[in-house]
Order: sequence, then C-alpha cells, then structure tokens
Amino acid sequence: MRIAEAVLLLFFSLCFVSDLKPLQAAEKPDRQVAITIDDLPAGASKMMSAAEITDMTSKLLTTLRDQKVPAVGFVNEKKLYKFGEVDQHIAALRMWLDYGFELGNHTYSHLSLNQVPLQTWEDDVVQGENVIRLLLADHHMMLRYFRHPFLDVGRDLETRRQAEQFLVQRGYRIAPVTLDAWDWMYAPVYDDARKRGDAKLQDDLVKSYLSYSDSVFAYSEQLSKQIMGHEPKQILLLHGNQLEADHIGELLDVLRRRGYRFVSLEEALGDQAYSLPDTYVGEEGTGWLDHWAIAMGKPPQGAPVFPQWVIDRAKTLHQAQP
Ligand SMILES: [Zn+2]
Repeated sequence: MRIAEAVLLLFFSLCFVSDLKPLQAAEKPDRQVAITIDDLPAGASKMMSAAEITDMTSKLLTTLRDQKVPAVGFVNEKKLYKFGEVDQHIAALRMWLDYGFELGNHTYSHLSLNQVPLQTWEDDVVQGENVIRLLLADHHMMLRYFRHPFLDVGRDLETRRQAEQFLVQRGYRIAPVTLDAWDWMYAPVYDDARKRGDAKLQDDLVKSYLSYSDSVFAYSEQLSKQIMGHEPKQILLLHGNQLEADHIGELLDVLRRRGYRFVSLEEALGDQAYSLPDTYVGEEGTGWLDHWAIAMGKPPQGAPVFPQWVIDRAKTLHQAQP
C-alpha cells in the first residue's frame, strides 16, 4: 500500500469511528423500568374459568421468563375463593413464584382507601395476606410489597400518612407507579373480541394499545425531566389479563426501542426519586409523577388523550353484562 492510500484509509476509518460513537450514544438513552402486574390471579377473573386463568398466567410468565424480565404481581385474594376452583387459583399464583417472580398484596377485595374508613381498609389489607404469605414462605421469601387499589392513597393527608405508617409497621414497602397506559380499559374489549373471533378488532386494539403506551412513555419521560431534571427508574403498571398474556412481548419491544432495560422493583425503588416530597391526596388516584409535580406546585399538563372509541366499547360491554 502506498503512503497516500494508507493515510486516506486511516482518515476514513477515523471519520467512521468518530461519526458513529456520538450518534449511538444519542440514540440509545439508558432508561430503566420495573414491571408490576396487578389484580392477580386475573383482572377479569369473574369472566374467566380457572383453566383459562392457568393458561393466561402460564403464557404471560413464559414470555417474561424467556426474556429475563423481572416482575412483581399484586394479588387480590378474594378472587381465589370460587367454589370448586380454589386449588387451581392458588396453583396459578404459585406459578408466579415457581417461575422466579414475586408476589405482593393489593388488598383482599381491591378496596379503595378513598371509599371506606381507614380501619375497614386496614382489615382488608390484613385479610389479603393469608395465602400469599404461605406461598412466599414456601419459596423462602417474605411478603414485602403493597400496591394501593385504584392508586387511591387517601382523600386527606392524615389518612394517607396513617395508612402508610400501618403498611410500614406490617413490613411493607409501597409500590408506586410512574408509567400507566390503562391496559385494564383495553382488556375487556379485547376479551370480548377474542371470544367472538373478531380478529380485525383484536388487531386494532393491540395497535392502539401499543401506540398509546408509546405516547404515555414519551410523555412521562418529558414530565420526569420537567420535575426532577432527569428520568428516574420508572415503575410500569400492567394487569393480569389476556391482552398482556398475548402481547406483552410487543410491549416489551416498545420499551426496548425507547432505550429501556428491565430492572427489579427493588432496584427501581432504590432510586432517590421515590423519597421526593409527596403530599398528594385526592378523590382520584394517579401516578407518582403527578404526585411529585403537584407537590412542587407544577400540576402536569398535556397528557396523551386515551382513545375514546375504546372507552365507548368498554362502556357498551359493561352495560351489556348480566
Ligand atoms: Zn388493581
């Protein structure tokens, strides 16, 4: 090789390297998210047989396990007590631990702290511990996470703080939520389309769910930066339903494309964001990014609008139920 050629080659290879490196760094932000899945053994457990719940659980957990994505599932034990199906429902919960995941308490009967007296709510928390404590102990694990039903943390600050103190005394860490794309609103419409064999509607719902999720994630990342100047380790709220069992792999891809990697809830909670001042109270439960923004006197604006056609279909279905 002549010297001129060698110099030229060196020049081009340097250009190539120096061009690529900053580009890759800019395109791939390092984001982290923990996955949490509520309303176990199943969101729509009234409509599902124990066998359907078993299949749904196995499909959901297989995807998560194969992709090495940690998750914590939050249980409403009341849903276990269906005549003739108790053992199968408990077996579906056990599957979570056998597959290497963790379970937390979501109250016995999905009771809102904003709708009942504090004592009633606390009793419901305690009643929600029986089976999961046994299952966890059998796997040499402790019950350590609690998720508020409807994300309702109390209508006044005194109730909120008393409830938090009660939870801490019972050994719980509260599991906040920072990402939430309302999969529970899609789930019954998806179930109905699936039962009727309406492939077109199922497809439309999945596309809408994934694109709405993507816009919620983008909005939440922006809001995070506005509130705290950076994005914390986020915590995503999903629900145990057939939509997630069938399509969680695609949702994980949406997250990966945004630069997320998946961490445990324990790791996410280690982020300092989760000790930010939070005095939020209100009739309507909401995510923790909203809590922090409101506590700072900067109420969030411009959240993506949930697709109205899905709400309309969910309402129609709800009315049609016997
Ligand atoms: Zn729930």
